[in-house]
Amino acid sequence: MYTVAQLIGGVWGAGGDEGELVVHDPADGSPVSSAPVATADVIGKAVDAARETEPEWASTPPAERAAALHRAADAVEAITDELAAAVTAEMGKPLADARGGVEAGIGTLRQYAELAPVRGGRTLHGGHHAIDFMVPQPHGVVAVITPWNDPVAVSCGLLGAALVTGNVVLYKPSERTPATGWLLAKALDEALPPGVLSLLTGGAETGATLAAQPVDVVAHVGSTAAGRAIAAAAARTGAKALLENGGSDPLIVDGDVDPVWAAQEAALGAFANAGQICVAVERIYAHRDVAEDFVAALVERATQLRTGPGRDPATELGPLVDRRHRDHVHGQVTAAAAQGARVLTGGTLPTGPGAFYPATVVADCRHDMPLVRDETFGPVAPVVVVDSFTEALRCAADSPYGLAATVLTGSMSHAHRAWRELPVGTVKVNAVFGGAPGGAAHPRRASGQGFGYGPELLDEFSAMKAVHIEAPGGGHW
Ligand code: NAD
Repeated sequence: MYTVAQLIGGVWGAGGDEGELVVHDPADGSPVSSAPVATADVIGKAVDAARETEPEWASTPPAERAAALHRAADAVEAITDELAAAVTAEMGKPLADARGGVEAGIGTLRQYAELAPVRGGRTLHGGHHAIDFMVPQPHGVVAVITPWNDPVAVSCGLLGAALVTGNVVLYKPSERTPATGWLLAKALDEALPPGVLSLLTGGAETGATLAAQPVDVVAHVGSTAAGRAIAAAAARTGAKALLENGGSDPLIVDGDVDPVWAAQEAALGAFANAGQICVAVERIYAHRDVAEDFVAALVERATQLRTGPGRDPATELGPLVDRRHRDHVHGQVTAAAAQGARVLTGGTLPTGPGAFYPATVVADCRHDMPLVRDETFGPVAPVVVVDSFTEALRCAADSPYGLAATVLTGSMSHAHRAWRELPVGTVKVNAVFGGAPGGAAHPRRASGQGFGYGPELLDEFSAMKAVHIEAPGGGHW
């Protein structure tokens, strides 16, 4: 059992009078971690302490900040196995995936340590006797509020970029993975000057209290509902809101593709991490010419997945994060069935402990069903049959979200139509996951705002200043 402590103003163990929260292993229901819940008073003190630390960290040379981030990456690397085990224990994903998330996070820390000190501003061309330039500076105090579904990778990106650009950070990990956040913060704190990073724990209320503080940036990765509440809070304080939120990513299966290969891609996109990925395949538009064979192959793949606890190396499909989330997933599936969809495999609540949910394929879906339109965030593949690629594109584009989309097609002209026409941040052709390192996109609509990834995240955490210098009295230097 992990006993989580908070880090405030460089002091471990502060705060938590409001009570504690307990996380249960989603594989068997046993208690895994307990964490304090930060009071409003404690959160206010953490912001005050961050303000005191801010000038010194902001004036530390970028190369020194980068060296500290490299040391932080080393410290995280040294606890890779411990971190991966905590992720699996708290949120259930297979251990190899959890490890992959930790390794991705370490890679991101190192990338930001390399990129930050070589960033420049711009030199401007003003009057002959003037000097004009633009220079990035830190915003000041940044609140980083993160989710549970890939807790180390997501946190490392935001924390690394915010810290290396000279901001002091208040980190609030998800209430579903507080021990993971605590282990990560301990490793980072070892390498950083005291007070540069604070850790606050608690649930949505703690996040809301933090987002309402007089900070300079609130960076949130999580659900759209929370993101919108944070944007409203930031509008009141004047803070900048950086939001990477929910999605309902479409997969288009064109009429000319091998349906068995398409089913493998669909299964990977819909069932990896039990569907708990922001860019998971949430809805499938299959061309009528291949739909029957595609659905048959998808059902076959869904029934082959080995389900079990994430700590078992053979497991391909772990449990959902908790039963509350399982109820949400199952509710959407049963509602679709009541509206005329056919559940071909899965769709039943297993007996026994934990929050397991089977890989589920739902056929005869309509584009207007909540299972198709809303974010499910579970191992569910709803299939809508379409008569043309144009109809598939129209349905894919018709969504409150705009995170990412995948198109499986043998037609180059369809591939080009897809990336041009789909109103989403990322378009993938013939692969549900992947992409070059450093890729970053603007999510659209309810999926958020700003760059949450890539080198551009360094710009998000920097305030650009324009400087104009002349000699006094209009003379020459
Ligand atoms: P969530 O928004 O419920 O929680 C995320 C964090 O926000 C937690 O730390 C939580 O305590 C906090 N929070 C919740 N309500 C808040 C409020 N009103 N004010 C301030 N903070 C609040 O999301 P989740 O369930 O942890 O994560 C799943 C969601 O995250 C999914 O919607 C998924 O698509 C999204 N996600 C998006 C990306 C992306 O890059 N776009 C990446 C990962 C996850």
